[in-house]
Amino acid sequence: MSNSKEKLSFFENVNRNFDRAAQFTSHPKGLLEQIKGCNSVYAFQFPVRTSKGFEVLHGWRVEHSYHKLPVKGGIRYSDFVDEDEVKALAVLMTFKCAVVDVPFGGAKGAIKINPKSYTVTDLELITRRYTAELIRKNYIGPGVDVPAPDYGSGPREMAWIADTYAAFNPGKIDALACVTGKPVAEGGVRGRTEATGRGIYYGLREACDNAEDMKKLGLTQGLSGKRVVVQGLGNVGYYASKFCHEGGAIIVGLAEYEGAIYNPKGLDIDAVVKHRKETGSILKFPGAKDIPNTLEALELECDVLIPAALEEQITDENASRIKAKIIAEGANGPTTADAEEILLKKGVMVIPDMYLNAGGVTVSYFEWLKNLSHVRFGRMDKRFEQSAFDKMLQAVEQATGKSFSSFERKEIVKGADEIDLVNSGLEETMTTAYNQIREIWKSNSKIPDLRTAAFLSAINKVATSYVDLGIFP
Ligand code: GLU
Repeated sequence: MSNSKEKLSFFENVNRNFDRAAQFTSHPKGLLEQIKGCNSVYAFQFPVRTSKGFEVLHGWRVEHSYHKLPVKGGIRYSDFVDEDEVKALAVLMTFKCAVVDVPFGGAKGAIKINPKSYTVTDLELITRRYTAELIRKNYIGPGVDVPAPDYGSGPREMAWIADTYAAFNPGKIDALACVTGKPVAEGGVRGRTEATGRGIYYGLREACDNAEDMKKLGLTQGLSGKRVVVQGLGNVGYYASKFCHEGGAIIVGLAEYEGAIYNPKGLDIDAVVKHRKETGSILKFPGAKDIPNTLEALELECDVLIPAALEEQITDENASRIKAKIIAEGANGPTTADAEEILLKKGVMVIPDMYLNAGGVTVSYFEWLKNLSHVRFGRMDKRFEQSAFDKMLQAVEQATGKSFSSFERKEIVKGADEIDLVNSGLEETMTTAYNQIREIWKSNSKIPDLRTAAFLSAINKVATSYVDLGIFP
């Protein structure tokens, strides 16, 4: 489909973004083709006997790029999923990993079910059966392909996957590294659950800290005081709202399936979540205005819009009505290529998904490293650091004659725990990557936006890998 008037599929949208960025490179056509295409698409069906009776379910695992191994990406549980979507998401994973220097290729998996319509026992059976299919075809393994949570799946499913893989591979010492996003007690890493939302906060904060860019948008420098609307109160949307709020932003709007709520004075996210649990809906939240048509939330008066639900939410149909100056893509593919052109003309800044939501896979990388090293981060050095800091404090006290309070001492002397190291690694990753893509964006006035710059950065990194591997000259 080359006519932009026709509705492009998600995969076509991603490819259009790829082509737009590829124009700025001088890589040979063959190399670009190799980078763009999905290396392997495994579509299968498998039978299960659930509480609903006998069923045949559809599953996929798409491995987009083998320039680095293992390949990495989540497993989506959704009854709307199709092959086009899984392919698009797998492509995004390759470029996402490259942008934040996570040394993996991209992949994505899916099971076509509505997880809400199954019992926990059903879901366990389905997950284990899906995993067995991946094992059978070598589509899972610590050095091959490492799944993770995605829309509709979480730590519980990842624990079932790890256990199934270990059962099929008795004695395999690195078995736990076959999947990330596991519960901490099952080999997970602290901070993984909130990593995508925390990463969004770090990325948005970095963008807002650039006075020159903010001035162009007619905004003040810094995230503090910015009015934010968030679409989606799942794991990503919830933590993104929470950390942005803690960073001084005002969450003025929240949208979910059932509708949206708006309060220009700000919404208390935890209170909204509690209200939703009690009433089954975010609507009728005290002090807030109800917006029954949830998509209208995207058009609310605000500075920053964080779409953190599903793909293709901002389209050529609603893009012209969007009032936000910054679109911070928490979800994968929330803005279509046509919508982006409209937004660009309006001068809106889009912080692209492949960079902004890379916090999840970044911390997945830390979890994988932890599983391979078989030791908790901080275990070896925490006490050593503490005693070194303590000795330093004593020396300062002796030299100055001043003594620190026990509170000050505790704060200064503290050695790093796993969570401190994970968050620090995440902050470093998101900050460095932002400046890398911004520099590319600013290096050539023809590069229209941050997304093209992010694609360009990623294409060049993947190309370098292929050249280094000796596959291309
Ligand atoms: N599903 C997440 C994403 O789209 C996480 C992937 C991972 O941790 O491997 O980025």
